[in-house]
Amino acid sequence: MAERITGHTELIGLMAYPIRHSSSPAMQNEAFAKLGYDYAYLAFEVDNDTLEDAVKGLRALKMRGSNVSMPNKTVVHKYLDELSPAAELCGAVNTIVNDNGHLTGHITDGIGFMASLKDNDIDVIGRKMTICGAGGAATAIEIQAALDGVSEISIFNIHDEFWDRAVSTVEKINTKTNCKAALYDLDDKDKLKEEMDSSYIFVNATGVGMKPLEGMSVVPDKSFFRPELIVVDVPYSPLETKMRSMAKEVGCKTMNGLGMMLFQGSAAFELWTGEPMPIEYMKEILNIKYE
Ligand code: NAD
Repeated sequence: MAERITGHTELIGLMAYPIRHSSSPAMQNEAFAKLGYDYAYLAFEVDNDTLEDAVKGLRALKMRGSNVSMPNKTVVHKYLDELSPAAELCGAVNTIVNDNGHLTGHITDGIGFMASLKDNDIDVIGRKMTICGAGGAATAIEIQAALDGVSEISIFNIHDEFWDRAVSTVEKINTKTNCKAALYDLDDKDKLKEEMDSSYIFVNATGVGMKPLEGMSVVPDKSFFRPELIVVDVPYSPLETKMRSMAKEVGCKTMNGLGMMLFQGSAAFELWTGEPMPIEYMKEILNIKYE
């Protein structure tokens, strides 16, 4: 590190709370070092109370940018100059780019999801997606999929505090993109089966499958899957979820969420540096496998 950091090194941050557990600093710094880029990436404990000052600091220090995570993703737009179309539609920002004092907010989670599909030779453009979820990850995927050209999206969610967000996402997709979206109650399993049967890809973007909902699945049993259906679980801890095991038993091609995690970081890296991460190298050192 002593060899790498000089008076010219530019700083990139990560503003969130809590954040000490994050793997983003290791991932981003490995990629900068591999490509010989003169940036350093550090995590800062920033919550909603200190966010405005932190963004002012980013400007004052002429930092190249920052990642933003919870609880700041849906708040930080207030302090920025411009938003990408996806960030505007999602109502969330996870990446800030500072171009000579002009701050633009982007959301790279959905870009990362779509890039991970492409990297795994899955082409969803012009096809139908059924997806469970209406939170941060799901909304970013739904908006980006619609912007990129997925033809139809059927969204399922339980009637919790995220339901209204799903209503708003469906309305935005139907009015602002060429994709056709609809919302259904996740408790209506007949409808879920019907929509999955007419879809090319099925995505779980809820917290189901991950602690504290480990061992659970949004899909009740394997009769919901057919071998041609692509099945993606966005949660990646544990890597092997109940839902993916069931889908594999039927013969479906499945994917975990590690690719989305890698490619959302790569998309942010590219926004700051103009180049994507060295993907194959990153997969190797982070031990990222889709299966
Ligand atoms: P969130 O809290 O914003 O949203 C949670 C979602 O889960 C909502 O749709 C909610 O309705 C649903 N949900 C919660 N409990 C449920 C239950 N009992 N039954 C059915 N649905 C339920 O969370 P998020 O940030 O969107 O994260 C969702 C999942 O995606 C998490 O497992 C997270 O780890 C994962 N994630 C992965 C990546 C990646 O890069 N692969 C990125 C972000 C999030």
